[in-house]
Amino acid sequence: MSETYVVLGAGAAGLAAVRAIRRRDEAGRIIVVTAECCPAYSPALLPYLLAGTVEEKGLALADQRFYDAHQAVLVSGTRVVGVDFERLAVLVEQGGAIKYTTLLIATGAAARGEEVPGATGADGPLTLRTLADARILQGRLEEAESVAVLGAGLAGLEIAMAVRKLGKQVTVLARSDQILCRNAEVGEATIVQGWLEEAGIRFLLGRGASAFEDAGRRRFLTTTRGDAVPADLCVAAKGAAPNTAWAAPVGVRADRGLAVDAGMRTGIPNVFAAGDAALTRHAVTGQVEAFATWPSACAQGAVAGANMAGADARLSGEIPFNVLPVFERRVAFMGCTSSEALRSLGEGVEQRVIGCPALGRGRTLWFHDGRVVGAVVIGSRQDAGRLRQAIQSGVGSAHRCGGVQWPLRRTSLRR
Ligand SMILES: Cc1cc2nc3c(=O)[nH]c(=O)nc-3n(C[C@H](O)[C@H](O)[C@H](O)COP(=O)(O)OP(=O)(O)OC[C@H]3O[C@@H](n4cnc5c(N)ncnc54)[C@H](O)[C@@H]3O)c2cc1C
Repeated sequence: MSETYVVLGAGAAGLAAVRAIRRRDEAGRIIVVTAECCPAYSPALLPYLLAGTVEEKGLALADQRFYDAHQAVLVSGTRVVGVDFERLAVLVEQGGAIKYTTLLIATGAAARGEEVPGATGADGPLTLRTLADARILQGRLEEAESVAVLGAGLAGLEIAMAVRKLGKQVTVLARSDQILCRNAEVGEATIVQGWLEEAGIRFLLGRGASAFEDAGRRRFLTTTRGDAVPADLCVAAKGAAPNTAWAAPVGVRADRGLAVDAGMRTGIPNVFAAGDAALTRHAVTGQVEAFATWPSACAQGAVAGANMAGADARLSGEIPFNVLPVFERRVAFMGCTSSEALRSLGEGVEQRVIGCPALGRGRTLWFHDGRVVGAVVIGSRQDAGRLRQAIQSGVGSAHRCGGVQWPLRRTSLRR
């Protein structure tokens, strides 16, 4: 009997899986189910859509030609609400079921919202996770002169930059005392914050939003420290929650994502998970978490798809990799680069600085037990790939790393 592969989600992970399945199985049926009605798109490009530097058609990942070429059937506008793992059937909102022999859960994640007293649904805080969110935000931005962004992580900063490019007054609020807590130590975070401030973005750190108030034609947001921030519109960028609540029986951690092994298997027979919906292992710290980046989703989807079609592929541990373009500049984070991740390695972490990151060109590297474990590359496109490879393969001493002999300046580690 030929297989019926059902792929839930038409994002990076789901589509990578379709390619991998079809590479190994020419005969099986492939059914891709997605809640959205639009063609598959990249959420990572939504800030560029907001800024007007990319058009909607530039977001597209796959159209009908992709499904035809892979002999796959797309079932769009269909929300999954459960899976009957005994009957091997996916349950959909409209009623009815889709039978599978092998299932991939690649339903991504949804934005975590934030409630602010005084805000009605239309004021927000709005979020930016889907194309539908972006269209709503675009409409509201036409009227707004000032925007408050709640959250100073990568997504919050991308949104702040997009809105600033439109000429709006932008204030970023965060409860933490530094920006980019999950990606950077305070030194690198301060450099990036300086670049953003030069471009006119204001930061209020160490405080949250406590209320929205009308003041004539304009609106203000009051912070927990009593500041009044002009905010005709408020956008929350407080991280994401996996779209897996409906799949609770798959894993005890369904609220955080679905735990999988290195082959992307959930532990339920013939059920795999990949992308933002899955929890995988950090190559350096060993921690199990959702990596929620585009490269991770593609790699995980490819491993899942191959194994759904009978291969025995394994995902090597994850190396977080994020690139943040900051107007004309750029910063890349890879491996362990946040205080929390570096602390989790215990004693003996050394930091080395090459060049002059504070002046916009340099690298900060971290070493532990004789290997490079993290790097922040500021202002250059060079070496990022080689450094990432060095972190992944666990090589790279304090003097030679990523195939390059570098004159390293040792500094004390800020912790
Ligand atoms: C604003 C923003 C900026 C980003 N910037 C970057 C960046 O610069 N670099 C980077 O690496 N990553 C970035 N990311 C993250 C990156 O986009 C994601 O990690 C990646 O898209 C995850 O792919 P995925 O396939 O797991 O999920 P998604 O691409 O989210 O796809 C999920 C799919 O599942 C479907 N779905 C969801 N729920 C259901 C359901 N119940 N039933 C049926 N279908 C369902 C959706 O319709 C969709 O087709 C960004 C994300 C956002 C939102």
